[in-house]
Amino acid sequence: GFRDNDISKIVEADKAHVWHHLIQHKPFETGEPRIITEGKGIHVWDQRGVKLLDGVSGGVWTVNVGYGRESIANAVRDQLIKLNYFAGAAGTIPGAIFAEKLIEKMPGLTRVYYCNSGSEANEKAFKMVRQIAHKRYGGKKTKILYRDRDYHGTTIGTLSAGGQDQRNAQYGPFAPDFVRVPHCLEYRAADQGAPAENYGEWAADQIEQVILAEGPDTVGALCLEPITAGGGVITPPEGYWPRVQEICRKYDVLLHIDEVVCGVGRTGEWFGYQHYGIEPDFVTMAKGVASGYAAIACCVTSERVFELFKANPDDPLDYFRDISTFGGCTAGPAAAIENMRIIEDENLLENTQAMGARLMANFEALAEKHKVVGQVRGKGLFAGIELVADRQTRAPADEKKCAQIVAECAARGVIIGVTNRSIPGHNNTLTFSPALIATPDHIDEISNAVDESLGAVFG
Ligand code: PLP
Repeated sequence: GFRDNDISKIVEADKAHVWHHLIQHKPFETGEPRIITEGKGIHVWDQRGVKLLDGVSGGVWTVNVGYGRESIANAVRDQLIKLNYFAGAAGTIPGAIFAEKLIEKMPGLTRVYYCNSGSEANEKAFKMVRQIAHKRYGGKKTKILYRDRDYHGTTIGTLSAGGQDQRNAQYGPFAPDFVRVPHCLEYRAADQGAPAENYGEWAADQIEQVILAEGPDTVGALCLEPITAGGGVITPPEGYWPRVQEICRKYDVLLHIDEVVCGVGRTGEWFGYQHYGIEPDFVTMAKGVASGYAAIACCVTSERVFELFKANPDDPLDYFRDISTFGGCTAGPAAAIENMRIIEDENLLENTQAMGARLMANFEALAEKHKVVGQVRGKGLFAGIELVADRQTRAPADEKKCAQIVAECAARGVIIGVTNRSIPGHNNTLTFSPALIATPDHIDEISNAVDESLGAVFG
């Protein structure tokens, strides 16, 4: 077991050979990487035995039901012994069971396509949109609209739909026919030249303007996060979603909702879009589907979309010619079934609503106290605090100081996140996504750590 290993050797091996995600490695040459060795409930422990309250569910909003769930481990173990894998045209028992359970939570949608990452699920939807363009619209409706500040994945295809310039820089050229529409962050409406009234409708109308400029007969789909995650926890303004839905219907534009972060309970509903009465054609999900106990992602579609792929069985091109090798792993759906049972039996949606309300109330109190807090945003156990240098001008807070807040919180035993310089000059939204099992004490511990850290860094 791990405890038998010499931890200094583990650290050495990590430093010598692991290329970590999302960081500049130079500082690691002098420092020691943090290695997470164990997790239980909402807590993790590092190599020095330091216990940390994980306010971000595994770093990137994933471990929704918390760590150390033996029932998930057992479900996966039992399934792996019975059948670990089979892919291609054949199905598997957990694949069928989870698809049925998932569809029960998603009225209006009927089909689940399995794959292994959020990026891949989004790629599936993009491919379906492109194929529909060729099958139904003579190859014309190939354009996919995506929004400024949204993120849909790490592949060249999904980065082509990437609204975070810092993540895209130096990885181009990107795929053609992805077109950007403006964000809907009301707090920064003035920078967009928006009128003072009805910002939600105005922001949605910007999408219509893009559709008209591109030509409605060239636009196949609109891909949006229900609440933008890494781009700054952007909850939609009043009036936004109904108008977006109306625009999609008007121009025959398929609506693709990326639930990779918001999905499976994070916001207090099964899916983020369900707060806003949206009727999507595609819903993609990954992180919380099995809370990181196994890799699984899904691209879920309506029957209307599915029907288009079986219209002409004699045509060798007339079906979705796509496979995901690890979409045939049974560990994913086996873990996902148990993950869903836990959320239901432990009433975690209700807990997320209640604890989310407490988190927001605590953060609002911080806004009274600390001038650096510009705006608090969120839904359920998904929250962001945007920090500003000046409340009047809303100039972003100093990036280094924002990073310092994360370090100060960690020194107080709480892991939080910060938007990862994804918007140039805007590395200034602290992010929170604790496990859905959080208790009032955990919530208060998070906000107290933030309170003290803001005081320590900004005075
Ligand atoms: N979509 C959103 C909204 C995300 O936040 C992410 C990852 O952070 C992805 C898609 C990509 O998912 P993955 O990293 O599993 O490919």
